[in-house]
Amino acid sequence: MKRVRTQGAAGRASLPPAAYRRLMWLILDRAGWRCERCRAKVALQVDHAIPRSHGGPDAWWNLTALCGGALGCHAMKDRPYAEGRLRVVVLGEGRFKYEVCRGSKADPRLVDETYGGRPPTEEESVRLAEIMREVRRVRGLRVAETV
Ligand SMILES: [Zn+2]
Repeated sequence: MKRVRTQGAAGRASLPPAAYRRLMWLILDRAGWRCERCRAKVALQVDHAIPRSHGGPDAWWNLTALCGGALGCHAMKDRPYAEGRLRVVVLGEGRFKYEVCRGSKADPRLVDETYGGRPPTEEESVRLAEIMREVRRVRGLRVAETV
């Protein structure tokens, strides 16, 4: 996962590194330290369902834990459709749908569909709000209201 640091821009949804690390831990904790799609425990990565390059924020509802490695779920997001490509669909409040499509880009056929994630607990909501307060205090950044 690449990180592009662009700070200070209004509306920028990237968190400062310390706050992002804390959010990653919350996401991995939500996942039970397993891939939220296949439940594997291999080289977990926190992935943006809506990529940063498409304006996807560092937020609870946009981040999902996926297993790493060449055969892992994270790598499946970039795999050709012929081999089965993974698409992560945001369902809101930390819930996701994971669709694997085969065929071609023009005619992708759904071959697998699973669900994962969950809304934050009360305790997690408090910690998420703390992260957002810290971000506002430290940087004065305008960031996504919903983490
Ligand atoms: Zn996986």
